[in-house]
Amino acid sequence: MIVIMKPGTPQKEIDRLSEALTAKGVEVSPVIGKDLIILGLVGDTSKIDDNWVEANRNVERVMHVAEPFKKANRMFHPQPSVIDVCGQKVGGDSRLAMIAGPCSVESEEQICQIARDVKQAGANFLRGGAFKPRTSPYAFQGLKYDGLELLMEAREQTGLPIVTEIMAPHDIEIFEREVDVIQVGARNMQNFDLLRELGQTRKPILLKRGLSATIEEWLMSAEYIMAGGNENVILCERGIRTFERYTRNTLDLSAIPAIRKLSHLPVIVDPSHATGKWWMVDPLAKAAIAVGADGLIIEVHNDPANALCDGQQSIKPDVYAQLLSEIRPIAAAVGRKL
Ligand code: PEP
Ligand code: MN
Repeated sequence: MIVIMKPGTPQKEIDRLSEALTAKGVEVSPVIGKDLIILGLVGDTSKIDDNWVEANRNVERVMHVAEPFKKANRMFHPQPSVIDVCGQKVGGDSRLAMIAGPCSVESEEQICQIARDVKQAGANFLRGGAFKPRTSPYAFQGLKYDGLELLMEAREQTGLPIVTEIMAPHDIEIFEREVDVIQVGARNMQNFDLLRELGQTRKPILLKRGLSATIEEWLMSAEYIMAGGNENVILCERGIRTFERYTRNTLDLSAIPAIRKLSHLPVIVDPSHATGKWWMVDPLAKAAIAVGADGLIIEVHNDPANALCDGQQSIKPDVYAQLLSEIRPIAAAVGRKL
Protein backbone atom coordinates (compact mmCIF):
# COMPACT_ATOMS: atom_id res chain seq x y z
CA MET A 1 0.00 0.00 0.00
CA ILE A 2 1.27 3.48 -0.85
CA VAL A 3 0.07 6.74 0.70
CA ILE A 4 0.67 9.83 -1.42
CA MET A 5 0.72 13.01 0.62
CA LYS A 6 0.06 16.55 -0.56
CA PRO A 7 3.17 18.52 -1.60
CA GLY A 8 4.29 20.84 1.18
CA THR A 9 2.87 18.73 4.03
CA PRO A 10 4.79 19.76 7.16
CA GLN A 11 7.24 17.20 8.55
CA LYS A 12 5.36 16.97 11.84
CA GLU A 13 2.20 15.91 10.00
CA ILE A 14 4.15 13.28 8.04
CA ASP A 15 5.57 11.97 11.32
CA ARG A 16 2.15 11.95 12.98
CA LEU A 17 0.56 9.86 10.22
CA SER A 18 3.62 7.55 10.03
CA GLU A 19 3.30 6.88 13.77
CA ALA A 20 -0.43 6.19 13.50
CA LEU A 21 0.21 3.72 10.66
CA THR A 22 3.11 2.06 12.48
CA ALA A 23 0.77 1.58 15.46
CA LYS A 24 -1.43 -0.51 13.12
CA GLY A 25 1.40 -3.00 12.69
CA VAL A 26 2.97 -2.03 9.38
CA GLU A 27 6.42 -0.73 8.53
CA VAL A 28 6.38 2.79 7.08
CA SER A 29 9.12 4.02 4.74
CA PRO A 30 8.77 7.70 3.81
CA VAL A 31 10.19 9.07 0.55
CA ILE A 32 10.25 12.86 0.68
CA GLY A 33 10.95 14.61 -2.60
CA LYS A 34 10.50 18.22 -3.73
CA ASP A 35 7.18 17.59 -5.49
CA LEU A 36 6.13 14.29 -4.02
CA ILE A 37 5.83 12.82 -0.54
CA ILE A 38 5.20 9.10 -0.41
CA LEU A 39 4.77 6.70 2.50
CA GLY A 40 5.43 3.09 1.50
CA LEU A 41 3.65 0.59 3.76
CA VAL A 42 4.96 -2.94 4.10
CA GLY A 43 3.29 -5.73 6.10
CA ASP A 44 -0.30 -6.76 6.64
CA THR A 45 -2.30 -3.79 5.41
CA SER A 46 -5.61 -5.67 5.33
CA LYS A 47 -6.79 -3.94 8.53
CA ILE A 48 -5.96 -0.45 7.33
CA ASP A 49 -9.05 1.19 5.92
CA ASP A 50 -8.34 3.39 2.86
CA ASN A 51 -11.11 5.75 3.88
CA TRP A 52 -9.57 6.30 7.29
CA VAL A 53 -6.24 7.23 5.65
CA GLU A 54 -7.91 9.45 3.05
CA ALA A 55 -9.82 11.27 5.78
CA ASN A 56 -6.47 12.81 6.74
CA ARG A 57 -6.47 16.22 5.02
CA ASN A 58 -2.78 15.94 4.15
CA VAL A 59 -3.33 12.77 2.13
CA GLU A 60 -3.73 13.10 -1.63
CA ARG A 61 -4.66 9.45 -2.24
CA VAL A 62 -4.01 5.82 -1.39
CA MET A 63 -2.80 3.22 -3.89
CA HIS A 64 -2.62 -0.56 -3.65
CA VAL A 65 0.19 -2.63 -5.02
CA ALA A 66 -1.17 -6.04 -3.93
CA GLU A 67 -4.52 -7.56 -4.94
CA PRO A 68 -7.34 -7.95 -2.41
CA PHE A 69 -7.50 -11.72 -2.94
CA LYS A 70 -4.98 -13.62 -0.87
CA LYS A 71 -5.72 -17.35 -0.90
CA ALA A 72 -6.42 -17.30 -4.65
CA ASN A 73 -3.32 -15.20 -5.32
CA ARG A 74 -0.42 -16.71 -7.21
CA MET A 75 2.00 -14.45 -5.34
CA PHE A 76 1.56 -16.52 -2.19
CA HIS A 77 1.23 -19.87 -3.99
CA PRO A 78 3.50 -19.85 -7.05
CA GLN A 79 2.83 -23.47 -8.05
CA PRO A 80 -0.43 -24.14 -9.91
CA SER A 81 -3.06 -25.89 -7.80
CA VAL A 82 -4.05 -29.36 -8.90
CA ILE A 83 -7.60 -30.33 -7.91
CA ASP A 84 -8.36 -33.98 -7.34
CA VAL A 85 -11.78 -35.14 -8.54
CA CYS A 86 -12.32 -38.82 -7.79
CA GLY A 87 -8.66 -39.49 -8.56
CA GLN A 88 -8.65 -37.42 -11.78
CA LYS A 89 -6.50 -34.30 -11.60
CA VAL A 90 -7.41 -30.85 -12.92
CA GLY A 91 -4.82 -28.06 -13.34
CA GLY A 92 -1.04 -27.86 -13.44
CA ASP A 93 0.26 -30.11 -16.17
CA SER A 94 -2.49 -32.70 -15.68
CA ARG A 95 -4.51 -34.08 -18.53
CA LEU A 96 -7.04 -31.50 -19.80
CA ALA A 97 -10.46 -31.67 -18.13
CA MET A 98 -12.99 -32.44 -20.84
CA ILE A 99 -16.45 -31.95 -19.37
CA ALA A 100 -19.32 -32.66 -21.72
CA GLY A 101 -23.02 -33.39 -21.67
CA PRO A 102 -26.41 -31.79 -22.16
CA CYS A 103 -27.49 -28.45 -20.77
CA SER A 104 -30.25 -30.27 -18.86
CA VAL A 105 -30.88 -33.82 -17.83
CA GLU A 106 -34.11 -34.76 -19.62
CA SER A 107 -34.57 -38.52 -19.22
CA GLU A 108 -32.65 -41.64 -18.27
CA GLU A 109 -32.25 -42.66 -21.88
CA GLN A 110 -31.03 -39.19 -22.90
CA ILE A 111 -28.41 -38.70 -20.17
CA CYS A 112 -27.10 -42.28 -20.27
CA GLN A 113 -26.79 -42.30 -24.06
CA ILE A 114 -24.99 -38.94 -24.13
CA ALA A 115 -22.74 -40.04 -21.25
CA ARG A 116 -21.68 -43.14 -23.22
CA ASP A 117 -21.15 -41.10 -26.39
CA VAL A 118 -19.02 -38.37 -24.80
CA LYS A 119 -16.97 -40.93 -22.92
CA GLN A 120 -16.32 -42.77 -26.17
CA ALA A 121 -15.25 -39.45 -27.73
CA GLY A 122 -12.71 -38.85 -24.95
CA ALA A 123 -14.54 -36.79 -22.30
CA ASN A 124 -13.46 -37.44 -18.71
CA PHE A 125 -16.39 -35.73 -16.89
CA LEU A 126 -20.14 -35.65 -17.50
CA ARG A 127 -22.12 -32.42 -17.17
CA GLY A 128 -25.90 -32.07 -16.95
CA GLY A 129 -28.17 -29.56 -15.26
CA ALA A 130 -30.77 -30.85 -12.82
CA PHE A 131 -31.59 -27.44 -11.29
CA LYS A 132 -31.71 -24.87 -14.08
CA PRO A 133 -31.39 -21.10 -13.57
CA ARG A 134 -33.70 -19.98 -16.40
CA THR A 135 -34.33 -16.34 -17.27
CA SER A 136 -38.05 -17.08 -17.61
CA PRO A 137 -39.98 -18.69 -14.75
CA TYR A 138 -42.14 -20.38 -17.43
CA ALA A 139 -39.19 -22.15 -19.09
CA PHE A 140 -38.17 -25.74 -18.20
CA GLN A 141 -36.62 -25.57 -14.73
CA GLY A 142 -34.91 -28.97 -14.73
CA LEU A 143 -35.84 -32.36 -13.29
CA LYS A 144 -34.35 -31.33 -9.94
CA TYR A 145 -33.81 -34.25 -7.51
CA ASP A 146 -34.94 -36.78 -10.15
CA GLY A 147 -32.32 -35.27 -12.46
CA LEU A 148 -29.63 -35.85 -9.82
CA GLU A 149 -30.69 -39.51 -9.59
CA LEU A 150 -30.38 -39.85 -13.36
CA LEU A 151 -26.91 -38.30 -13.33
CA MET A 152 -25.91 -40.83 -10.68
CA GLU A 153 -27.23 -43.59 -12.91
CA ALA A 154 -25.18 -42.27 -15.86
CA ARG A 155 -22.09 -42.16 -13.62
CA GLU A 156 -22.76 -45.73 -12.55
CA GLN A 157 -22.93 -46.86 -16.18
CA THR A 158 -19.89 -44.95 -17.47
CA GLY A 159 -17.67 -44.20 -14.48
CA LEU A 160 -17.60 -40.50 -15.47
CA PRO A 161 -17.60 -38.11 -12.48
CA ILE A 162 -20.59 -35.76 -12.57
CA VAL A 163 -20.61 -31.95 -12.69
CA THR A 164 -23.91 -30.22 -11.95
CA GLU A 165 -25.15 -26.82 -10.85
CA ILE A 166 -26.34 -25.95 -7.37
CA MET A 167 -28.80 -23.11 -6.93
CA ALA A 168 -29.63 -22.99 -3.22
CA PRO A 169 -27.68 -23.43 0.03
CA HIS A 170 -30.32 -25.91 1.32
CA ASP A 171 -29.19 -28.42 -1.34
CA ILE A 172 -25.55 -28.46 -0.21
CA GLU A 173 -25.98 -31.61 1.87
CA ILE A 174 -27.29 -33.74 -1.00
CA PHE A 175 -24.80 -32.25 -3.49
CA GLU A 176 -21.94 -32.89 -1.10
CA ARG A 177 -22.99 -36.51 -0.82
CA GLU A 178 -23.87 -37.29 -4.44
CA VAL A 179 -22.10 -34.89 -6.82
CA ASP A 180 -18.40 -34.94 -7.80
CA VAL A 181 -17.97 -31.31 -8.87
CA ILE A 182 -20.46 -28.69 -7.70
CA GLN A 183 -21.04 -26.01 -10.32
CA VAL A 184 -21.83 -22.45 -9.26
CA GLY A 185 -23.47 -20.79 -12.24
CA ALA A 186 -22.77 -17.32 -13.60
CA ARG A 187 -25.95 -15.98 -12.01
CA ASN A 188 -24.86 -17.13 -8.57
CA MET A 189 -21.23 -16.05 -8.72
CA GLN A 190 -21.96 -13.36 -6.16
CA ASN A 191 -24.41 -15.32 -4.02
CA PHE A 192 -22.14 -14.86 -1.04
CA ASP A 193 -24.21 -16.99 1.36
CA LEU A 194 -23.98 -19.90 -1.09
CA LEU A 195 -20.23 -19.37 -1.60
CA ARG A 196 -19.58 -19.17 2.13
CA GLU A 197 -21.45 -22.43 2.73
CA LEU A 198 -19.61 -24.17 -0.09
CA GLY A 199 -16.43 -23.04 1.66
CA GLN A 200 -17.39 -25.30 4.54
CA THR A 201 -17.35 -28.39 2.28
CA ARG A 202 -14.25 -29.93 0.72
CA LYS A 203 -15.91 -30.66 -2.63
CA PRO A 204 -14.39 -29.37 -5.87
CA ILE A 205 -16.32 -26.27 -6.94
CA LEU A 206 -16.59 -25.13 -10.57
CA LEU A 207 -17.03 -21.37 -10.24
CA LYS A 208 -18.35 -19.75 -13.38
CA ARG A 209 -17.62 -16.10 -14.09
CA GLY A 210 -20.59 -13.80 -13.50
CA LEU A 211 -22.41 -12.24 -16.46
CA SER A 212 -20.72 -8.88 -15.95
CA ALA A 213 -18.04 -9.73 -13.43
CA THR A 214 -14.53 -8.34 -13.61
CA ILE A 215 -11.64 -10.74 -13.17
CA GLU A 216 -11.03 -9.30 -9.71
CA GLU A 217 -14.68 -9.79 -8.66
CA TRP A 218 -14.53 -13.37 -9.93
CA LEU A 219 -11.36 -14.07 -7.93
CA MET A 220 -12.92 -12.46 -4.86
CA SER A 221 -15.80 -14.95 -5.18
CA ALA A 222 -13.23 -17.77 -5.26
CA GLU A 223 -11.73 -16.15 -2.17
CA TYR A 224 -15.10 -16.48 -0.35
CA ILE A 225 -15.02 -20.25 -0.89
CA MET A 226 -11.33 -20.56 -0.05
CA ALA A 227 -11.60 -18.37 3.05
CA GLY A 228 -13.89 -21.05 4.53
CA GLY A 229 -11.14 -23.64 4.02
CA ASN A 230 -12.21 -25.17 0.70
CA GLU A 231 -9.31 -24.58 -1.68
CA ASN A 232 -10.70 -26.92 -4.37
CA VAL A 233 -11.87 -24.23 -6.76
CA ILE A 234 -11.83 -24.51 -10.56
CA LEU A 235 -12.65 -21.29 -12.42
CA CYS A 236 -14.69 -21.22 -15.63
CA GLU A 237 -14.76 -18.42 -18.20
CA ARG A 238 -18.16 -18.57 -19.93
CA GLY A 239 -18.36 -15.27 -21.76
CA ILE A 240 -19.30 -11.85 -20.46
CA ARG A 241 -21.88 -9.31 -21.42
CA THR A 242 -20.71 -6.66 -23.87
CA PHE A 243 -22.46 -4.38 -26.38
CA GLU A 244 -22.24 -7.17 -29.00
CA ARG A 245 -25.53 -9.01 -29.55
CA TYR A 246 -24.53 -11.29 -32.42
CA THR A 247 -23.22 -13.83 -29.95
CA ARG A 248 -24.98 -14.72 -26.68
CA ASN A 249 -21.96 -13.39 -24.76
CA THR A 250 -18.42 -12.36 -25.64
CA LEU A 251 -15.81 -14.99 -24.83
CA ASP A 252 -13.04 -13.26 -22.90
CA LEU A 253 -10.08 -15.36 -23.96
CA SER A 254 -7.71 -12.85 -22.40
CA ALA A 255 -9.10 -13.89 -19.01
CA ILE A 256 -7.23 -17.20 -19.31
CA PRO A 257 -3.66 -15.83 -19.35
CA ALA A 258 -4.79 -13.16 -16.87
CA ILE A 259 -6.04 -15.78 -14.39
CA ARG A 260 -2.92 -17.87 -14.88
CA LYS A 261 -0.80 -14.84 -14.00
CA LEU A 262 -2.91 -13.72 -11.04
CA SER A 263 -3.95 -17.04 -9.55
CA HIS A 264 -2.80 -20.62 -9.02
CA LEU A 265 -6.32 -21.99 -9.53
CA PRO A 266 -7.14 -24.04 -12.64
CA VAL A 267 -9.29 -22.27 -15.24
CA ILE A 268 -11.43 -23.86 -17.94
CA VAL A 269 -13.57 -22.42 -20.75
CA ASP A 270 -17.24 -22.90 -21.69
CA PRO A 271 -17.49 -22.03 -25.40
CA SER A 272 -21.17 -23.10 -25.50
CA HIS A 273 -22.61 -20.41 -23.22
CA ALA A 274 -19.96 -17.94 -24.38
CA THR A 275 -21.24 -17.94 -27.95
CA GLY A 276 -24.75 -19.42 -27.89
CA LYS A 277 -24.10 -20.88 -31.35
CA TRP A 278 -23.23 -24.54 -31.92
CA TRP A 279 -20.99 -23.84 -34.92
CA MET A 280 -18.81 -21.44 -32.94
CA VAL A 281 -18.01 -24.03 -30.27
CA ASP A 282 -15.34 -25.71 -32.41
CA PRO A 283 -13.10 -22.69 -33.19
CA LEU A 284 -13.39 -21.19 -29.71
CA ALA A 285 -12.76 -24.49 -27.94
CA LYS A 286 -9.53 -24.79 -29.94
CA ALA A 287 -8.57 -21.19 -29.18
CA ALA A 288 -9.22 -21.77 -25.46
CA ILE A 289 -6.77 -24.67 -25.34
CA ALA A 290 -4.22 -22.66 -27.35
CA VAL A 291 -4.31 -19.80 -24.79
CA GLY A 292 -3.74 -22.15 -21.88
CA ALA A 293 -7.12 -23.30 -20.52
CA ASP A 294 -6.98 -26.36 -18.24
CA GLY A 295 -10.07 -27.83 -19.86
CA LEU A 296 -13.40 -27.26 -21.57
CA ILE A 297 -17.04 -27.65 -20.57
CA ILE A 298 -19.12 -28.21 -23.68
CA GLU A 299 -22.83 -28.82 -24.20
CA VAL A 300 -23.41 -32.01 -26.20
CA HIS A 301 -26.90 -33.29 -27.06
CA ASN A 302 -27.97 -36.28 -29.16
CA ASP A 303 -31.00 -34.36 -30.53
CA PRO A 304 -30.28 -30.61 -30.29
CA ALA A 305 -33.38 -29.68 -32.32
CA ASN A 306 -35.59 -31.10 -29.58
CA ALA A 307 -33.46 -30.24 -26.52
CA LEU A 308 -35.40 -28.79 -23.60
CA CYS A 309 -32.69 -26.18 -23.06
CA ASP A 310 -29.86 -24.64 -25.13
CA GLY A 311 -30.24 -26.82 -28.25
CA GLN A 312 -28.97 -23.90 -30.37
CA GLN A 313 -25.54 -24.09 -28.76
CA SER A 314 -25.30 -27.86 -28.32
CA ILE A 315 -23.16 -29.99 -30.60
CA LYS A 316 -23.88 -33.60 -31.50
CA PRO A 317 -21.69 -36.42 -30.18
CA ASP A 318 -20.00 -37.06 -33.54
CA VAL A 319 -19.07 -33.36 -33.84
CA TYR A 320 -17.70 -33.51 -30.29
CA ALA A 321 -15.61 -36.57 -31.11
CA GLN A 322 -14.18 -34.85 -34.20
CA LEU A 323 -13.45 -31.70 -32.16
CA LEU A 324 -11.50 -33.63 -29.54
CA SER A 325 -9.43 -35.35 -32.18
CA GLU A 326 -8.55 -31.94 -33.67
CA ILE A 327 -7.77 -30.45 -30.23
CA ARG A 328 -5.22 -33.18 -29.47
CA PRO A 329 -2.37 -31.65 -31.57
CA ILE A 330 -3.20 -28.15 -30.26
CA ALA A 331 -2.92 -29.45 -26.69
CA ALA A 332 0.39 -31.09 -27.54
CA ALA A 333 1.68 -27.82 -29.04
CA VAL A 334 1.09 -26.04 -25.71
CA GLY A 335 2.53 -28.89 -23.69
CA ARG A 336 -0.74 -30.48 -22.53
CA LYS A 337 -2.30 -33.90 -22.92
CA LEU A 338 -5.86 -34.78 -23.68
C1 PEP B 1 -24.98 -24.04 -17.63
O1 PEP B 1 -23.80 -24.44 -17.52
O2 PEP B 1 -25.90 -24.75 -18.06
C2 PEP B 1 -25.28 -22.64 -17.30
C3 PEP B 1 -26.50 -22.25 -16.96
O3 PEP B 1 -24.21 -21.84 -17.39
P1 PEP B 1 -23.98 -20.30 -16.95
O4 PEP B 1 -24.17 -20.27 -15.47
O5 PEP B 1 -22.57 -20.05 -17.38
O6 PEP B 1 -24.97 -19.47 -17.70
MN1 MN C 1 -26.96 -24.37 -20.87
